[in-house]
Amino acid sequence: MHKFSETKALVQLRRVKQGFSNYISQNYAAKAKDCRTCTIVCCQDSDFVNVNITRLEALAIWHTLKNSSRVNPEKFQEIIKRTRKAITKYNLKATGDTFSQTYSCPLFEEGIGCLVHWKAKPAPCIQHGCYEDWHDLPDTKEFAQVEHKVETLNKRVYNAQEAENYATIPIWLIRIAEEMLARELANNKEDKEVYTDDENKSS
Ligand code: SF4
Ligand code: SF4
Repeated sequence: MHKFSETKALVQLRRVKQGFSNYISQNYAAKAKDCRTCTIVCCQDSDFVNVNITRLEALAIWHTLKNSSRVNPEKFQEIIKRTRKAITKYNLKATGDTFSQTYSCPLFEEGIGCLVHWKAKPAPCIQHGCYEDWHDLPDTKEFAQVEHKVETLNKRVYNAQEAENYATIPIWLIRIAEEMLARELANNKEDKEVYTDDENKSS
């Protein structure tokens, strides 16, 4: 299979999710309960949320949070902190049956809702809604196709072993955040060394 760069895959991932979001809006949203008037907030129901994502989706979430006008650097750190806490509190693991693990989603922000709603919402979250009549529920065929496309994109960027590695949002988000931080620190060190070398040469 021809490999994709992360950048190219992220663009395609966004398109796939946007297309799915439009499909749900056009065909089902009118029959679903309005989340803005709901007091249950299923995203924070730690017995209910078991959303699992791929590495590529976690990367998309990380970029969305980093670039969101609603998330300043302090808020970003706060989200990372509560994501870490969620891992400990709900005993989330990277291995085993990760779909059986449930948690309150750290991407839910009081007064705003889902912080990645527009750009990086996982497909199960796009699919989910509350309907009075179960006949109105979205079909699962489109959902399965979208998840297959997401998996394929993920496989085209990363190696097969990792590509198969679904995990909860907190597990993947912290892994990506740590990798990004390590990358940032390495770049800073490199920059420092370059400047130090130049200074040494000129002295
Ligand atoms: S999906 Fe249902 S439970 Fe969740 S916020 Fe919307 S209306 Fe409420
Ligand atoms: S990703 Fe967004 S929609 Fe999905 S559970 Fe978290 S806050 Fe809710």
